[in-house]
Amino acid sequence: MAKTPTLQRPRPPSDLVDLNGLVMPDRFVPAPEVHAWIENAFLYGDAPLFNPDHRHLMDAQLGVLWTNCDNLRNMRVVLGQAELMPPMAMGKWARARACQQIEEWFDGMPDFLLTFSAPAAAGMDDASFCALVEHELYHCAQNEDIFGMPKFKNDGTPSFGIRGHDVEEFVGVVARYGAAAAGVTAMVDAAQRAPLVGAASIAGVCGTCLRLVA
Ligand SMILES: [Zn+2]
Repeated sequence: MAKTPTLQRPRPPSDLVDLNGLVMPDRFVPAPEVHAWIENAFLYGDAPLFNPDHRHLMDAQLGVLWTNCDNLRNMRVVLGQAELMPPMAMGKWARARACQQIEEWFDGMPDFLLTFSAPAAAGMDDASFCALVEHELYHCAQNEDIFGMPKFKNDGTPSFGIRGHDVEEFVGVVARYGAAAAGVTAMVDAAQRAPLVGAASIAGVCGTCLRLVA
């Protein structure tokens, strides 16, 4: 994808946010502008919030969605989620139908699907939104082989997987965005350092985390 000069933080579609008391049907809207912004903000080598922990994602296809669909899990409101694609764990027709939908949204099957709550994002400050996005990016991992080296498939492409929350990689989000993003003991050391970007509280609003602990 061509690099764009703008780093304006993408805003969710207004019709997913400005409800004016109307009850809107649940919708999912592809957000290629968020994908482009992620590359320009975090992934490219000269990105202002460049994080080498996400280097493998330069070789990954990311699909991003906005949604206005309320999602409660474990009594927490889910604001973001990362999923490995293609979708699994459903009936054959349901899975094929989901695959078709996703491929039509993204002109092919992405490696990871990131979903963000549009109403929540509209109310977040920049640091909180960046922390939420990076938290989800941290879930998007390259698997490791038995020697701890990055794993590749037989065709030479990276073997991707979802990384859990209770590993030191997530220290990166706390180190960059502040102690409030903590919630697990492993993050305390990084949390004691001054945040590089700002404060945010993320793990409790991430559907991937809440699913992993459920
Ligand atoms: Zn999470």
